Amino acid sequence: MPKTVLVIDPVPVNRIRLAAMLEAAHYAVSTASDASESLRGGRDFDLVVIGLLIEQAPSFVQNAITQTGLKDVPVLCLDSDPSPLRRLLAMKAGARDVLSRSAPDGLILARLRGLLRDGEAERECDRRRMTAASFGFAEAATGFDAQCRIACVGLPEETSAMLQASLPHKVDVLEIDDVLRDGAGMPVPDAYVLASEGDGVDLNNLLPEIRDRSHSRHAPVLVLHAPERPDIATHALALGANDIAVDVASGEELDLRINAMLRLKRLRDVLRRSDEQSYRMAATDPLTGLYNRRYAEAYLGDLFFRAAEHQADFALIILDLDHFKSINDRYGHTTGDAVLQEVAYRLRDNLRACDLVSRHGGEEFLIILPETDQAVATHTAERLRKAIGARPVRIGDDLDVPVTASLGVAIGRVDAVGSRRRTGTTDVEEMAAGVSIAEVFDTADAALYRAKMNGRNRVELSGAETL
Ligand code: GH3
Ligand code: MG
Ligand code: MG
Repeated sequence: MPKTVLVIDPVPVNRIRLAAMLEAAHYAVSTASDASESLRGGRDFDLVVIGLLIEQAPSFVQNAITQTGLKDVPVLCLDSDPSPLRRLLAMKAGARDVLSRSAPDGLILARLRGLLRDGEAERECDRRRMTAASFGFAEAATGFDAQCRIACVGLPEETSAMLQASLPHKVDVLEIDDVLRDGAGMPVPDAYVLASEGDGVDLNNLLPEIRDRSHSRHAPVLVLHAPERPDIATHALALGANDIAVDVASGEELDLRINAMLRLKRLRDVLRRSDEQSYRMAATDPLTGLYNRRYAEAYLGDLFFRAAEHQADFALIILDLDHFKSINDRYGHTTGDAVLQEVAYRLRDNLRACDLVSRHGGEEFLIILPETDQAVATHTAERLRKAIGARPVRIGDDLDVPVTASLGVAIGRVDAVGSRRRTGTTDVEEMAAGVSIAEVFDTADAALYRAKMNGRNRVELSGAETL
């Protein structure tokens, strides 16, 4: 779906010109001569462009935002008189940015794209907040830090000094080499202000480096450029700058811009954390904190491909607690839960970092050992069996619950060529996702069944399976 842009401008020719430019860039454009006319459309917009005439006060922006009710939609102002003071007033009135009406189309479009991205992040954050609230979760903390660290790179001394005086943040003056040396031991900056030229700043090199390095990847970047070089501004935005400003901008304007960037950074941090949290929730078992069955099966699918590529064996162990039902019956379900948690702890404590243990369901666990042969797999399974059964699980101060486990071990030996031949298809993915993983599972399960039949509290090994 194309993004929707509302253009408010009292001059018909301005509206037509702007609408044509935006439509050529595939935006869905609506136009209005003033804010009240735009209300008649009754539509939602992703962005509003307001054309300001010299005789209009910048406070017009605020009235327009109030009248349209579009207070959360980013506003880009195109001013016929883009003097520093009017720019500042329009930004204070709610415009996210103010460009000269005569700015090149490329710059207007580049800035518009950035503002649309910001608006999207804000809306997504709102949506997730609502979803979280409907699930009964408290609102995610935004981690608001009143004082941030701003790194200035390549700025003339007086500009850095002006920023130090006017920003409520800690302003560090960094050399380009400091940035390229991953901060050279300095605290990680929350945002960067870069000069576009002078002092050896080469945006073509520096901006992509900032975006590529893990310590600076998420920090927003403001690039200062000479007023007569809008081409540099356009280029900086294309290279990944979050905002641009003329290098003669006042401290107050830069403060506004930097704070807007920091606010958006915090929103994006919240989005990233919420992604990580959803991922964790989708992948883990809430009782034991182990990976869940869904994750383990996806992992096994990946491992299968790697094993096929490197012709390396892997081992699969299915572990089932013995007579667990009678533990529940005798001590109660809550004690049963505590036993499951302790078993999970003992399993994790007895495996390598590269091994994966998951709760497969109920009192059954799955252990996946990459690049492991039969001897090591059997040895590991024995170690796990002993770790579980060697001492009872202590519950509270005086209850000892004895618990043992039976384990079935299978070795996956992936022979991709043989498998292709057998399945009659050259689609290894289909083969790996379907038949063969199920086969290795069934073999481990059959071994587990034998362990139960042969008296429990023991390990049984299937024959090495060539899949
Ligand atoms: P076997 O040695 O043959 O495996 O016997 P078993 O009793 O362990 O096996 P069975 O399948 O008969 O019973 C499994 C029990 O595990 C029944 C079920 O109530 C219990 N269980 C499954 N999930 C949980 C859980 O999350 N918490 C608790 N406390 N018990 C659980
Ligand atoms: Mg059991
Ligand atoms: Mg079971």
